Amino acid sequence: MQATEELIRSVVRQVLAEIKTPQHSSAHAASGKSFAGRNGVFDCVDDAVLAADEAFEQLSELGLEARKRIIDHIRRISIDQCVELGTMEMDETKIGRLEHKIEKLKTLGERTPGVEFLQSQVFSGDHGLAVIEHAPFGVIGCITPVTHSLPTITGNAVNMIAGGNTLVVNPHPSGKRVAAEGVRRFNQAIYRDLGIDNLICVIAEPTLESADALFTHRGVKLICVTGGPAVARAAMKSSKRAIVAGPGNPPVVVDETADLDRAARCIIQGGAYDNNLLCIAEKEVFVVSEVFDEMLAAMERAGAARLNAREVDQLTSVAIASVGEGEDKHDVAAKDFIGQDAAVLAQAIGKNVPAKTELLFAETDEHNPFVPVEQMMPFIPFVRCRNVDEAIEKAKFYEHGFRHTSMIHSNNVRNMTRMGRALDTTLFVKNGPCMAALGLGGEGYLSFSIATPTGEGVTTPLTFTRERRCSLIDDLRIIGKP
Ligand code: NAD
Repeated sequence: MQATEELIRSVVRQVLAEIKTPQHSSAHAASGKSFAGRNGVFDCVDDAVLAADEAFEQLSELGLEARKRIIDHIRRISIDQCVELGTMEMDETKIGRLEHKIEKLKTLGERTPGVEFLQSQVFSGDHGLAVIEHAPFGVIGCITPVTHSLPTITGNAVNMIAGGNTLVVNPHPSGKRVAAEGVRRFNQAIYRDLGIDNLICVIAEPTLESADALFTHRGVKLICVTGGPAVARAAMKSSKRAIVAGPGNPPVVVDETADLDRAARCIIQGGAYDNNLLCIAEKEVFVVSEVFDEMLAAMERAGAARLNAREVDQLTSVAIASVGEGEDKHDVAAKDFIGQDAAVLAQAIGKNVPAKTELLFAETDEHNPFVPVEQMMPFIPFVRCRNVDEAIEKAKFYEHGFRHTSMIHSNNVRNMTRMGRALDTTLFVKNGPCMAALGLGGEGYLSFSIATPTGEGVTTPLTFTRERRCSLIDDLRIIGKP
């Protein structure tokens, strides 16, 4: 085992020594700079892209085993240091819940798909053989959200490096320190083992200008944006190909056939996770009137705290703000309340709930701003509907056409099918919490960049590759007559 590791190391050293010769050099060598030892943390977009380009050339000389080995370092650090890094993320961003900050890093380290996803396709026939392989793009420019700063970078890094790429990240300014620290640790471990630095680069002082510089940089071959409406729009206008993981406002429908206690447990598990910061999290619930009161009782039995109409009005007046002018005027979640604990929300309206309360909920009408707004805080409105048709219609309306995520609790296959067809969302969960769609309690795999408007879905290494076809004419099909 030790001998094999030493052999891999010596091959890697040999390859890297060869890369340093001029015939392999390009933009970074022309610049005369070497960035080794920076561990991926940069002040300037130009330098970060040059360093990531240098790292891309080095990575391109290595095989899949080396990519796997690099990814294993990222996984190990995310898992082994999840408590320290998760605490750092919580202390810096001040939103969400510590236990979930820790769990997200661990889960991404364990379950983000890696090189095993890169399966080639083969067409073998009378005219020979065609092999379709998946090649990297090069340097990918990434924008990451404050809701999961280091977790998004971790998932992106595993996916993108598995595909043979390197990345430069412009993180959200409110999560920049943990982003830089995580990236520094990943690169340091990789550099020590394989001698390649800066596979993952991060802008230490990110701004909208540095995001724009990344969008337009000639050295960036692809962009991947994870964030809300403004950045999703900016990316869609970019002249480069963009993979856009945009906003959501996931509705839940509960019909008269649902197991209400199970539905309540699922809505609390998904809607309260990290204080409702997940883009896939349950944001509003449409319940048929036949079981509406029973459903609210089930929510209380499952531990959520119910607000009355006056309390809902009070919470709305403090936790929802208005932005824009004229036709652009619209409601948004008030910054001070995003990702805060349910007990903090309750306290703001003079209500005491036990500190461990995970979720607040109430009956509202559909015009309450908590229904259309992506609130990202642990209060969920429940809207009474005449029947399942009305519930599905309203769910579709308030999903805003993001085609992101929706949920139904039902034992009627026809209702499930109707809702699935009507909402046309990227993720559609039946009888489970939202995270079941990412393989957490359901089947499937995980990423924290779910490309919705651009349609790639839950991103994987393949999302960040170009298809290349290699055709051999008339030979190498070994079946049949000559
Ligand atoms: P945000 O839109 O405020 O910020 C996201 C990132 O975009 C940040 O790095 C920010 O600095 C940058 N940004 C914002 N406006 C920009 C512009 N005009 N040009 C360039 N960069 C810009 O979002 P947030 O509060 O950090 O994250 C929450 C949002 O992200 C929610 O809407 C959520 O649904 C969405 N999200 C989506 C996914 C997904 O996979 N689809 C995952 C996580 C979060």
